[in-house]
Amino acid sequence: MSDRIALTFDDDPKITQDDSVPTGTSELLRVVEELNQTPPYQKRPIRLTFFVVGVNVEKMLSLEPQLITRMVMGGHEIANHSHSHPNHFHRLSVDQALEEVGKNHDLIQHLLGRESRFFRPPYGLISQPLIDAILREFPRYQIAGWHRHDEKDSYTAAQLSRVVVQQAQGNQVVLLHGWYKSTLWAMRSIFQGLRDRGFYAVTMGDLAGKPPLGGLKGL
Ligand SMILES: [Zn+2]
Repeated sequence: MSDRIALTFDDDPKITQDDSVPTGTSELLRVVEELNQTPPYQKRPIRLTFFVVGVNVEKMLSLEPQLITRMVMGGHEIANHSHSHPNHFHRLSVDQALEEVGKNHDLIQHLLGRESRFFRPPYGLISQPLIDAILREFPRYQIAGWHRHDEKDSYTAAQLSRVVVQQAQGNQVVLLHGWYKSTLWAMRSIFQGLRDRGFYAVTMGDLAGKPPLGGLKGL
């Protein structure tokens, strides 16, 4: 049985203020950077996958360029979540969809120095013709859904952490959002709970096989 699990974060890089508490990518990275310096994580550090949005990358490049550097230098995977996060990606024309993917792909490649290999459509909305067109234009890409998405407005951080840790399985892809307050507050306990159960957080690319198509709608 695999002891690997991929925690994937959508919409980054993003910084928000929630009840005057900072949330978002920089806080998430702070927790990971801190844990990775402690003995349990030094040997097999926590690695995440960030499904970045191009306009957010552009914004952060001028607002807080170090954030981009930290995402890359932390050994995390940078994946493609479209350039402008359209509401109804599945209804875009093939040309519009390819532009959304291609623009963000180039941005990731040129500004972050990383080749993105995964595309996750905003809200999981995508049609089969668009999948076909994207894979024709970007043959190295894989379309990535998720196995589990357990974030709920009614959950406290402790509840979310309990569910994520209890439901963890080898080779699983978990969808999370670092700008979501309860998620951010749950992360330390999620990392520790997963490690206690013998799971290691790795990037999507380090999982076996193709990413799941679960969670995708509009097919
Ligand atoms: Zn999103």
